[in-house]
Formats: sequence, C-alpha cells, structure tokens
Amino acid sequence: MNEQSTMDGRCARGSQAHYKALVDSAAAAILVIDERGIILDANPFTHTLLGYAQNQLVGQDVECLMPPEHQGKHGQYLKKYLSTGEPNVIGTGRRVMARHREGHLVPVHLAVSEVWVDARREFIGIMSDLSALTHAQATVQHERNRLKTIIDAIGNPVFVRELGGQYALANRACLQAVNVDHVTQLAEAFGKALPDGMRDTLNALDHQLTADGGPVHIDVTLRDGRTFKLAKTLIHHLAGEPYAIVTVAYDATPLLQAMQEAERANQAKSDFLSAMSHELRTPLNSVLGYAQLLLKSPDPTLSDSQHQYVEQIHQSGRHLLALINDVLDLAKIEAGKTTINPTWYPAMALVNDAIHTLAPLAERQKVSLQSHLPQGLDGELYVDPIRFKQVLINLLSNAVKYNHPQGSVWVDAREAGGNLTLCVNDTGIGIASDQLAGLFEPFNRLMAEDSLIEGAGVGLAVTHQLVAKMQGRIEVTSQVGEGSCFSVTFPYRSALSSAGSEGKVLRQASLSLKQPHRVLYIDRDSHQQRLMADCFEDWPLLTLHCAHDVSLADAMAHTLAPSLLIINGDDAATLQDHGLQFIEGRSVIVLETEQNKPHHLHTPSSFKRLQHPVSSSDLAAAIQSLLEDRE
Ligand code: ADP
Repeated sequence: MNEQSTMDGRCARGSQAHYKALVDSAAAAILVIDERGIILDANPFTHTLLGYAQNQLVGQDVECLMPPEHQGKHGQYLKKYLSTGEPNVIGTGRRVMARHREGHLVPVHLAVSEVWVDARREFIGIMSDLSALTHAQATVQHERNRLKTIIDAIGNPVFVRELGGQYALANRACLQAVNVDHVTQLAEAFGKALPDGMRDTLNALDHQLTADGGPVHIDVTLRDGRTFKLAKTLIHHLAGEPYAIVTVAYDATPLLQAMQEAERANQAKSDFLSAMSHELRTPLNSVLGYAQLLLKSPDPTLSDSQHQYVEQIHQSGRHLLALINDVLDLAKIEAGKTTINPTWYPAMALVNDAIHTLAPLAERQKVSLQSHLPQGLDGELYVDPIRFKQVLINLLSNAVKYNHPQGSVWVDAREAGGNLTLCVNDTGIGIASDQLAGLFEPFNRLMAEDSLIEGAGVGLAVTHQLVAKMQGRIEVTSQVGEGSCFSVTFPYRSALSSAGSEGKVLRQASLSLKQPHRVLYIDRDSHQQRLMADCFEDWPLLTLHCAHDVSLADAMAHTLAPSLLIINGDDAATLQDHGLQFIEGRSVIVLETEQNKPHHLHTPSSFKRLQHPVSSSDLAAAIQSLLEDRE
C-alpha cells in the first residue's frame, strides 16, 4: 500500500466515522432501505422515536412503520417509482404519520432521497418528530375554537379588523346584524349599511385609536334606522405592536325607542298634570278670592256660623291649592322644566323668613318654633332663594305637623369645609328606620294616611328633587317617639368673603316705607302669584293679595282699597274689556311681557311699566317710588 492510498483509506475511514457520529447523534430518525423496502440501517433516534429496541428494525419491511391504511401499498409505490421514475415522497418532503411499535401514530416530517452505493440503489429516509409542533397547533386550534364558541355565544356583534383593513373575525351576531354568512362579506355589507360619510368617520376613528391607544366609543345609526353603540379597542402582538382593532357593538335601538316612549309618556303625564292643575286652579282661585272677599267684607249680614263656614271654605281651598301646587311642582321637576337660579343669599334671612311664614301654623298646633342659629351667622348660601325657602318651609311644616302639642321645632346650623348644614329638628312622632328608604318617594305617606294629619306625600319628594337640582345634600336621622332631624347642606361663604357680592345687591331690594300698605296683584297664573308672594315676604309692611282675573280684582279692590295694583301684562290686556274705571286714580305697576305691552293704559303720575320677569330690586324701586308719594 503506497502512501497516497494509506491517506485515502485514513480519510475515508475518518469521514465515515464523522458521518456515523452525525447520524447517531441526530435528533431526527434516519433509516436506509433497499429497493424492496427492507430496512438496512436505522439510527438510534429512529428506535427512540418509534419505540423499537436497538437494531430491532434492521431486516424489517419499512411498511411496519406505516399507518395501517398505507400498509401493503408501499411495495406498489416503490415498484411504480422504480419502473416509471414517478416519485411519491422521494426527493420531496411531506408531513406523514409514522406507526409506533405500540400501534399509535406519530406525526413526522418525512424526506426521502435516493442514493447509489456501488451499483445498488438505496433510499435514505429522514423523519423529524412533529409531535410537539402538532400538539402546539392542536392547542392553538382548540383555543381558537373555544374563542369562536365564546364570541359566537355573545349576543352583541363583535368583529376584528386588521389595521390593513381586512376583516379577520366576526361572531354570529355580527354576521346576522348585517345579514351575511361569512366574514369576507363584511366589508361590502358595512358599505351598504352605513350612511354616506360614516365609513370615513369610522376610518378616522380607527386611525386615531391606532395613534392614541384607546378604547374609543361612538354611536352609529345605520341607513335602516338602527342605532349601534360601538366600543373599539386595539389588539397588540406579543411584541407590543398594534395589529388589529376589535369592535364590540350594542344595538341600542330598543333602548332608545323605550326611552323615547318613556319621554313621550312622561311628557304626556306632565302636560296632563299641568293642564289639570290649571283647570283646577282657576276655579279654585275664584273660590278662594270670593271667600276672602266675604271674610273681609264689612257687610254685617253674615251670621257668625256663616262666617265660620266661609272660613272653612277658605281654609280647605288653600289646602287644596297647596296640594295642586305640590303635584304640579313635582311634575315640572320630573319633566326637567324647573329652572334653578342659584345665587349667594344671606342664610340668616332665608331661615328667619321661613320661620316667620310657618309661625301661624306652629301657633295653631301649639308647637314652639325657634331659630337656634349661632350668633353672627352672617354669611351667604349658594342657593336659588325662592326654591330654598320652599325646601325649608316643607321641612318646617312637616316638623310642626308630625309633632305633639307643646312639642318643639328648632333650626340650628353648623359650618364645615365651605358648606353650611341647616338642621330642622323636631320633638315629634319620629320615623321608623325601616320606613326611611321610602321617605322621598312621591305619594308615600309612610302610614300617615291613616292619621288625621293632612298631606299628600308629595312635599318631601319635591324637597328632595329641589335640593338635588341646587347641588345640595339632604339627610335624615330619626327616632320613633323622640323626633327627627332633617338637614340640608349647601355651599356657604362668610360675610368677609361676600362683601361687595350679589348678595348685597339682593339685600338692597329692601324698602324703606313708613306705614303698611295693601297691594293687589292680578295674574291668572298661580305659579307667578306664588313667586310674587315669595318676593313680598321680604317686605313686612306690605300685604299682598292676589286675584286671578279682573272681575275678582275689581271686587277685591273695592273691599280692600289697596294702595297699589300690580298687573301682569297678559291680564292687563283684558282690562279694557272690563272698563278702565277700576284702575283710575290708583297707583299701578304693569309687568309687560313679550306678547303684551298694553299701551292703552295711561295714568302718567302714578304708573310704571316693568319688563317681566322682573327682578326683586327693580320691583322694590318701583314700589318705593309709587308708595312714598302716597305716604
Ligand atoms: P305629607 O306630609 O304631605 O304626607 P311629605 O312628602 O312631606 O308628605 O312627607 C312624607 C311622609 O314622611 C309623611 O307623610 C310622614 O309620614 C313622614 N314625615 C315627613 N316629615 C316628618 C317628620 N318631621 N316627622 C315624622 N314623619 C315625617
């Protein structure tokens, strides 16, 4: 053997050892078969992968590694290849199932190549184990199915659109909503369903969402009238990059329809209540006015008992009017028609006014009614003064009504954190704790309906709503048999910080008259009458009488001899029909409205026109100038 052939032999041996090591350590099954399909060699991983002991495969037909349905066919594939050269797996790779010794199938990737050793043809098969990959794919598929089942079970439409614009996923509700069978039909279906321009709005929204993150919400009304509320959220890759937007839609059409129905019903209720209240109040005002007239009449023909009957008519009429006003107030608040004009107003004046108003009732019921406000409480509350007075009057009248003879009612106050809490305390019958929840419900009298105490269960509902509308807070504590405390809390500022404020301007609405006067106000609207009465509470020397029409006013004017007439412009229009004698020689203020500026009224020296609605300071100035001339 020469030196060269020794080298070649060493090299050949060396590379053989090299390849053997490679094959033996490969993490893929490598086997060699002959033209008949008999296994000539198999590396250790083949045994591990398919469960055979070392060398157990050598000499076996390769068909033993194939699933049952392929067994018997492999010989034919091989023969066909050998005769025609048409490959089945040879020279290519494909995913197949290999049969484990124990019978189960193992997913593998099989690549087969043909080699010639001397003049013999052999085939080398390399199988890579795909079990882990197949398992992972099965898990992904399983998760996907689960997700699909879940989103299909959601009644709301859900769809996913990739940032490129492709729709990737849609649940059943989404497909049904636009009447298509498959996600690929969504783009066209949406195009048809959306009104002009909406597609662009939604695209712009998607861009904004992609840039800013999200989520974003939008309401979309389709061409067919249905309204959907959409919530859009970005979906990110694991690496953090956004790649799609998921949209969850909610068909709000039934809800919106129900809301519109409810609003219509509420409107109808308010209109009915307001019409009814008007219809009831007009004759009731007449009853009250004429009863008042009879009571004040100097004519001695009424006997004592007739006088008492008239008093009873008057009292019951007032009670009925108060109830109607409460019901109307509630209807107006519920219909959102109540306007609140908050301003800074002296707390002390508000409380004293309310106490002053309730004093006659407290006296009749033999209940002491007092203010326990701290000395020097000279700051201002941020409230609508008229509405706030209504709140206090409701609370105080309840505290008096649901009390015992010789009981007490008092108002105290505490200031904290820029707020003032006013408490209306009573030593009355109290409220059981299990009744407190229904306290502010309209028409809920908490069993008081069985008592002789008059009421309709509306006052506290109105109070509660008014406090809420003025951004305040109302709270109650009560002990049965001991009494109750209703407290209301509103923003408060001390006198120091309120100097020079609107509160001062309001206080300037005071009058400096020397003697008492009667004023007759003519207005068919009893709400306006009440506002005027509230305004007059600030002027103790003036007594206000109201008439809802000119004939009643005429009769009242003869009996009461008022120093001043105030006439709503709308009612002044009817004065002419009635004859103008009744205003002649009297001081008159006409509150002109947009619709009615009664130019036919002229009595130059003692006549003033004011624009209605009038501020209390303008009214005070006009009254002052007209009445001081008469003093
Ligand atoms: P009304 O007094 O017209 O019945 P409200 O709405 O003012 O209606 O009050 C509802 C109910 O709450 C009353 O019927 C009464 O049972 C109870 N209530 C209210 N204030 C008091 C109070 N200070 N003490 C005891 N019970 C009260």
